[in-house]
Amino acid sequence: MKGYISQEEIVRISEKADIVEIVSRYVNLKKSGKNYRGLCPFHSEKTPSFFVNPEKQIFHCFGCGTGGDIFKFLMKIENITFPEAVEKIGKEVGIEINFQKKKVSNKEKDEIIKANEFATKKYLELIFSSQGKIAFEYLYSRNFDENSIKNFSLGYAPYEKNFLIKKIEEEGLNKEIFIKAGLISDDGEKDIFRNRIMFPIMNWNGDIIGFGGRAIEDNIMPKYLNTKENLTFNKSRALYGLYWAKDSIKEKNYAIIVEGYFDVLKLFINNIKNVVAPMGTALTEGHLNILKRYTERILLVFDSDSAGINASIRNLENILKNNFEVKLCPLPTGFDPDKFIDEFGSEPFLKLLNNSQNFIDFMINVESKNFDIESPRGKSLFVKEISKLVSIIPDEIERNEYVKYLAEKTNVEKEIVKKYIDEVMDLEEKEIKYKSEKKDIKTNAEIYLLKILLNNQEYIKEVIENKEELTERIKKVIEVIEKLLKKNIKPSISNLISSIDDEQLTNLISNLSIEEEVPFTDEKKRRVFEDCLRRVKEMALREKLKKMKREIATRGKEYSEKELEEIQTILYQLKGGR
Ligand SMILES: [Zn+2]
Repeated sequence: MKGYISQEEIVRISEKADIVEIVSRYVNLKKSGKNYRGLCPFHSEKTPSFFVNPEKQIFHCFGCGTGGDIFKFLMKIENITFPEAVEKIGKEVGIEINFQKKKVSNKEKDEIIKANEFATKKYLELIFSSQGKIAFEYLYSRNFDENSIKNFSLGYAPYEKNFLIKKIEEEGLNKEIFIKAGLISDDGEKDIFRNRIMFPIMNWNGDIIGFGGRAIEDNIMPKYLNTKENLTFNKSRALYGLYWAKDSIKEKNYAIIVEGYFDVLKLFINNIKNVVAPMGTALTEGHLNILKRYTERILLVFDSDSAGINASIRNLENILKNNFEVKLCPLPTGFDPDKFIDEFGSEPFLKLLNNSQNFIDFMINVESKNFDIESPRGKSLFVKEISKLVSIIPDEIERNEYVKYLAEKTNVEKEIVKKYIDEVMDLEEKEIKYKSEKKDIKTNAEIYLLKILLNNQEYIKEVIENKEELTERIKKVIEVIEKLLKKNIKPSISNLISSIDDEQLTNLISNLSIEEEVPFTDEKKRRVFEDCLRRVKEMALREKLKKMKREIATRGKEYSEKELEEIQTILYQLKGGR
């Protein structure tokens, strides 16, 4: 990591760069009204729904919803990080970047990471004490010795109700942050993880962002417990083993995906280091985006029981959609990599890896059992089922290669397969269009307010004044605008996008700003604006009410006097008496 770049420099670079020129290197763009239009490089489509707006310096795809500024485009298409994208464009426009040592860091995030580090240390210490004997013996029985326990910082959270809490109190640490880290209960009286083997989970940077805990006794539910979502931990982005695996993934240029913690560790111990596991979920787009920094090739290893097969097919869709090359390695039924290596050793495992299949061969294997391929009808359904997966591949040349391969393998004429895939893609595009029309944004005051705000900067001041009464989403945008203004930076759409670290929100912003605006008169616009503002305030009140109710429900206690009063005020305001 080179360091961080100041906001001012980012703005200077983006002002000098031309998004149309840069996108044109990857996408064939044609002028269309105020915008340029082309085939989206991020999803497969036949009619263009990808727009670039030179005036606002943003892009947006109405097919897959991806959007953003010039940096975001480069990050996605080149699989690079934000600083790398800024540096790259900076070089082109002749601005050299002054990397700063340390970003003004997010204090709470850092504190949660420190709390996790503290817990890791205590859980690890315990495993080598007499109280932790049960955990040590358990791990030993699964072929993990003292060295591997230490190397991977495995730990033991004992059955005791407040083991960690006592340690926190002994050292006089602040309980609040341990509650936020999801390590102790909200009332600060109970440990969350108990009688479990603890696996600290690190991000790419080596920070401990959360834990996975496996029950020591098989009858305890859930068998696996993860840290609940918080500032640092997000299950759909966390990959177990990534910190140790990333160099090897880069070097070998592929990532092995397995299911469990023990699988990752067992492979590691056997010197197969390019391996990671999602946290008990399917591979999400978040996981894939992170992996893309290191490779574009994935090898899925899984138990070939029906659950394993089905999970792999689900993963396949996402993997193909995100432009990865993929191979599959089914293990014999009833075996995961951990168990397989324990039983047969690592040599036979490597042999299996070397014999992994491409996804067409895998699907032919799977689907030939589901259809009667001897009958014409059965064969047609069989080929169509596999074709659907092929249609997901965004790159046309690559897709065509798979069409050829599938036709050859199933002995169907290539043109026929291709025709069917084209049909599937047309249907898919129609459906996307239908869905986006259905989600008519005019119906939502919050989104409409955001749209007016983004396209008419004269309303900014007024919205800032009302900030405290608005919804979380609008507040987030307003706070970024304020920050920019404080630094004397114009809160243009592209500056806004490069300052917001929330992909859903930046996609929404690019969407709203690239759409043609309804040509209202100033007077009409004013009325719409005020109406939206009022309705968003109502939304915010309801949002607040819901949040309070949720908090009280999870706390499991009665309302306090103060809370009751607050709820009554909100209800009164919602009725229109302000
Ligand atoms: Zn797209």
